[in-house]
Amino acid sequence: MYDFAIIGLGAAGAQLALAMCEDPYFNNKQILILEKEETVTNDKRWSYWQKGDSKFDPLVTQQWHQGAFIGPTGSHQELKLAPYSYKSINSKDFFEYAYEKLNKQPSVTIIYDSVEQVIKDTHTHLLKGIHNEYKSRVCFDSRIDNPIPTQMEKSVMLWQHFKGWHIKCTKEVFHPDRFIMMDFSYRHTDTSFIYVLPYSKNEALIECTAFTSEVYKDDKQYESLIKKYLADLAVSDYEIVAVEKGKIPMSDYPFHKHTAGNYVKIGTAGSWVRPSTGYSFYYISKYVHRLIEAIKTDSLSQLHLLSKKTRWLDSIFLEVLDKENAKGPLIFEDMYTKNAIQQIFAFLDGETSIWEDMNIIMSFKKMPFLKGLMRYVLR
Ligand SMILES: Cc1cc2nc3c(=O)[nH]c(=O)nc-3n(C[C@H](O)[C@H](O)[C@H](O)COP(=O)(O)OP(=O)(O)OC[C@H]3O[C@@H](n4cnc5c(N)ncnc54)[C@H](O)[C@@H]3O)c2cc1C
Repeated sequence: MYDFAIIGLGAAGAQLALAMCEDPYFNNKQILILEKEETVTNDKRWSYWQKGDSKFDPLVTQQWHQGAFIGPTGSHQELKLAPYSYKSINSKDFFEYAYEKLNKQPSVTIIYDSVEQVIKDTHTHLLKGIHNEYKSRVCFDSRIDNPIPTQMEKSVMLWQHFKGWHIKCTKEVFHPDRFIMMDFSYRHTDTSFIYVLPYSKNEALIECTAFTSEVYKDDKQYESLIKKYLADLAVSDYEIVAVEKGKIPMSDYPFHKHTAGNYVKIGTAGSWVRPSTGYSFYYISKYVHRLIEAIKTDSLSQLHLLSKKTRWLDSIFLEVLDKENAKGPLIFEDMYTKNAIQQIFAFLDGETSIWEDMNIIMSFKKMPFLKGLMRYVLR
């Protein structure tokens, strides 16, 4: 019998396990980690904004203090981020670091098994894996319903989907000190844009991203915008050194609804991914901290990680993007050109007061949001 089981050693499971190992409270507790994949194949870059320092800073490969937003009408906003900065971590570095630390902990057992079912009893959880069965007092589970039954909950289901090329070119065309958050001068007729992480003057990740209900069926839809971006920089001689492709749910589906008492859904499965942005890495560290405190005070069952206000604002925003997707670029333009970037980050992090929220909301055109609110109320 284990004290704690973590299903899934992904971004959330690994951050939770690391935080447990760093806290003396867990020294004499037995922690089981069940992960279905023996090797980390999905190498991606996790980027996030953050104020000040964090314990993962030694893993940060790149950090920017400036950014830029380019709107669909040609508006250009320079973003001076202080006291925030935008940081990037390679998931492979993160997992190597996590595995090294966790493997050294006598209290941690990592087993490669795919958990098919969790049966809850009053005080224990029986975890049925393909190879074996396990028992644990507390269970943290990062599995998501597959497929996601959004219809049942009348939720909006969009995807943040993207394909990026990490390129090296001979010409020096990038500004290594400044990343591009969104460039809407490159878009299709939906909410799509170009995102650029420059690593040096002649090396960058150029990603075509879209927030839509369906992912693009043809990779050419991503690649055509990337190629146009490069052509406008007059870059023809380049090498693609890596490709990043993925999709992240942007949904107000209550993934966390199965959380109960000592059974806690974490990561995407716990609704820890901010639906309006698709970002999660920074939120995971926040939620993990609160989870640890709740374990230590034996108050897991009273823990409410998600703010109702933030979820409500996200739902209305998703309603707008879902039904009036072509208006997305103008909405982002209003947000980035009429508000300070520090306010935007705090708003997206759910760290603003209701008055600060109102200031941001007032900067949007009212009609799409009023219609979105109506649809949300009538769901
Ligand atoms: C290409 C790409 C780029 C991204 N970039 C960013 C970014 O820049 N910034 C950001 O904040 N977010 C980014 N994300 C999103 C981020 O990776 C996710 O939000 C985050 O990984 C969610 O964490 P998680 O632990 O819930 O899921 P995951 O990290 O996917 O981990 C889930 C784990 O559970 C395991 N598992 C699943 N089922 C079982 C089972 N039955 N039994 C045992 N184990 C199981 C999986 O193998 C996996 O290891 C990106 C995503 C992708 C795909």
